[in-house]
Amino acid sequence: MSTNELPKIDLTQRLAGKVAVITGGAGGIGFATAQRFAAEGAKVMIGDVDQASGERAAEQVGGAFVKVDVTSEEQVNHLFDEAARLYGSVDIAFNNAGIMPPDDDSIETTELPAWQKVQDVNLKSVYLCSRAALRHMTKQSSGSIINTASFVALMGSATSQISYTASKGGVLAMTRELGVQFARQGIRVNALCPGPVATPLLMELFAKEPERAQRRLVHVPVGRFGEASELAAAVAFLASDDASFITASSFTVDGGLTAAYVTPM
Ligand code: NAD
Repeated sequence: MSTNELPKIDLTQRLAGKVAVITGGAGGIGFATAQRFAAEGAKVMIGDVDQASGERAAEQVGGAFVKVDVTSEEQVNHLFDEAARLYGSVDIAFNNAGIMPPDDDSIETTELPAWQKVQDVNLKSVYLCSRAALRHMTKQSSGSIINTASFVALMGSATSQISYTASKGGVLAMTRELGVQFARQGIRVNALCPGPVATPLLMELFAKEPERAQRRLVHVPVGRFGEASELAAAVAFLASDDASFITASSFTVDGGLTAAYVTPM
């Protein structure tokens, strides 16, 4: 077959006809992913606790918004059901909402309420969202779930945020198990492990204390923080049929961080 006769595949529209639910889609990695999904042809439902930013984000990607606190079972179920009602199915779930509050710190100073809050928003939410998504996906025998974990699920940090790290370890283990359990039902479940990403909040923090940023950057082989759009590109890949043989994986997008011993000067 000559090159002229090859079937035409539109690689820019890998998500055409798919319906995607994104939690934490009002900002950061979630919003960048909403933009990427929409650009690749998906219908996007944004779920976020921040109503004003969420509505703005949905408008920008031509999608819909539902206000949701991801720690509430009722609200999470409503989010996924609403996506199916509006757009006809739930094909992709990007369970991404997460927090990193300052009162979650060293185990010596982190009190139970701070511990519990992070467990609820970062880990319980992934259980609730995966369950809500699976109710739709098992019926149609297809779907892709991507849960946001972190590089700290893979390596230890001396600058501890103990509940955050434990929550992301939980996300990773739960994702692996779901990926294995639902593989024969046509549903893929993968964990995204971002390295440090240049989201506005993190950059604001580091602008105030540049030595803190430097202390972290020295461990990243590529020598810079990631961009939200670089994470979004990876999520779009995992969501698409290009990743049809990838499930139960810990998909690391970290500029080489977790593989590094000595980094370049
Ligand atoms: P972000 O703060 O920019 O965005 C998080 C979004 O989640 C916000 O829109 C926020 O309103 C929403 N949210 C928070 N609590 C919620 C709740 N209870 N219910 C619904 N929505 C809620 O953060 P980000 O940097 O884009 O992080 C996204 C995910 O990536 C998080 O799970 C985070 O832990 C993870 N992550 C981030 C980094 C990084 O360096 N930024 C690194 C590794 C992992």
